[in-house]
Amino acid sequence: MTITDIADNRLILNGREVDALSGESFERVSPAHDVVVARYAQAGAEDVDRAVAAARQAFDDGPWPRRAGVERFRVLRRVADLIRRDREHLARLEVLESGKPISQALDEVDAAAELWDYAATLARHAYGDAHNDLGADVLAMVVNEPLGVVSIITPWNFPLLIVSQKLPFALAVGCTAVVKPSELTPGTTLHLARLVIEAGADEGVVNVVTGSGGVGAAMAAHPGADMVSFTGSTAVGREVAASAGRLLKRVELELGGKNPQIVCADADLDAALDAVVFGVCFNAGECCNSGSRVLVHRDIAGDFAAEVVARARRVPVGDPLDPATKVGAIVSDEQLAVIERYVAEGRGDGAELLLGGGRLATGTGRFYQPTVFAGVGPGMSIAGEEIFGPVLSVLTFHTLDEAVEIANSTMYGLSAGIWTSDLNAALTASQGLRAGTIWVNRWMDGYPELPFGGYKASGEGRELGRQAIGSFTQTKTIQLQVGARRTRWVPGDMS
Ligand code: NDP
Repeated sequence: MTITDIADNRLILNGREVDALSGESFERVSPAHDVVVARYAQAGAEDVDRAVAAARQAFDDGPWPRRAGVERFRVLRRVADLIRRDREHLARLEVLESGKPISQALDEVDAAAELWDYAATLARHAYGDAHNDLGADVLAMVVNEPLGVVSIITPWNFPLLIVSQKLPFALAVGCTAVVKPSELTPGTTLHLARLVIEAGADEGVVNVVTGSGGVGAAMAAHPGADMVSFTGSTAVGREVAASAGRLLKRVELELGGKNPQIVCADADLDAALDAVVFGVCFNAGECCNSGSRVLVHRDIAGDFAAEVVARARRVPVGDPLDPATKVGAIVSDEQLAVIERYVAEGRGDGAELLLGGGRLATGTGRFYQPTVFAGVGPGMSIAGEEIFGPVLSVLTFHTLDEAVEIANSTMYGLSAGIWTSDLNAALTASQGLRAGTIWVNRWMDGYPELPFGGYKASGEGRELGRQAIGSFTQTKTIQLQVGARRTRWVPGDMS
C-alpha cells in the first residue's frame, strides 16, 4: 500500500498548532502495512509546561468555566456532529495507526460521537443541593465546582473512544485539559482537538502534546494540573498514582483486566460460544475488557472448547482496510513480543494449545493467530496476567462458588460475566464477583449512561454516567445566616 498524503502534525496549544520547542518529530508506521502514515511533533517537558500554562490560564481567567452550562452543552453537541461529519476520515486514521479493522473503527467513531452527545447533557445537570431543614436561622448550598486543569493520558487500543470517555465529561463541567495520546496513535486525538476548537471551545480549553519518553511523567507530576486521568497498564497506573499522590492531585485510573466469562452447563451455549470468541478476538484482544479467560463447567468443558476452536478458526484475520476483516494487526513489535512471551509461558507451564500459538504469515505487518489454550490452571501466568492479544485460556469449575473464587483470584477486577439460564445463579455470581462491570448473558456492551471502572488493580474511580460529574468537580458548602442574628460566643456586654 502507498500512502501519498502523509500528514505533518504539530502540537495544539492555546488554540493554535505549533512546533515542539526542540523542533523534533517522529513518524508512525502502519502496523498492518509497514508504511509511514503520519509525522508528529515530539514534545518535551517545556512543551508540557506550555500546555499546562495554557490550560491553567483558560481555567483561571478564561470564559469556559464561567459559561452557562447550556453554552458548554451546545459546544459539546457540535463536536458530536463534527465527529459524525468526519466519520470516514477518523476511522481511516484509526485503522492506519492502530491496525484495527475498518468496520470496528467506524463503530468506534460512532460510539465516540454518542459519548460527546451524552456528556453534553451533563453540562446542564452539574448543579448541587440546597438544605433548608438545618434550622430556622440557616440556609445552606452544596455546589459542584469544576476541579480545574485535567491531564489526560490515553492508550493506543481505542484512541478516539477512550479520550471521549474522559475529555467531554471534564469539559462539560467546566474543566480545561492537556491531552497526551499514545505515540502510536495520536492522529484521531489531534483531529478531535481541532473539532473541539471548530465547535467553539475557548482558547486553551483543550491542548494536545504528542510524543513519548517522559511526556506522560511530566504531565502526571506537573504542579499546574489538578488531576490526572490515565488509561493504560497497571504498572504505569501505579507510577501515575504515586506521582499524583506526592502533590495530592486527584487521580482517575482505568487499568488492566483479566476478565472471566463463567459458562454454566444450563447456558444458551450457542450465544455463549459466540461471545467467548468475540470476547477474546475483538480488537485482536488488545482490549482492557478482553474476555481472556473462560471458566466452563467441567461437564461441558471438552465439547465447549472444541467448538470455540471451530468458531475461532472461521474468524477472518488480515488487512484491516478490508471490510470483511474481523481481526486486524497487532499494534507494535513490542506488543507482539509480549503476546509471544505469554504463549511460550503457557506452553512451558503445560497448558494444552488447541489453536494458533504463532504469527500469521503475511507479506507485511504484524498479525497473530487467534489462540486457544485448554487445561489451564489458575496459577499459570496465562490465567492471571493481562496478555493484550487474541489468546484465550480455558479453565474449568465444578460449583458456582468455585467459579466465583477462581474468577476473583487474579489481582484484576475490571469486568466479568456469567452465562446461565438460572436467574438465581446469575444474581448470586453478580454479587460475589469483584469487578466493576458484570455482564449476564451478554458481553462487552457499554453505554455512556453506565459507570465504568475497575475493582482492585484494575483502577480507581469511575468514568461515564452521571457519576462523571463527581469525577471532575469538587464540592463546596456555602452556609447563609438567615433572619435571627448569630448567638454570641464571647461573654459580656459588647454593645
Ligand atoms: P502503558 O500503560 O505502559 O502506558 C504508556 C503511556 O504511559 C505513555 O503515554 C507514557 O508516556 C505514559 N507514562 C509512562 N510512564 C508514566 C508516568 N510515570 N506517569 C505518567 N505517564 C506515564 O502502555 P503500553 O503502550 O506500554 O502498554 C503496555 C501494556 O499496558 C499492554 O501490554 C497492556 O497490557 C496494557 N494496556 C492497557 C490498556 C487499557 O485499556 N487498560 C491500554 C493499553 C495498554 P511517555 O512515553 O511520554 O512516558
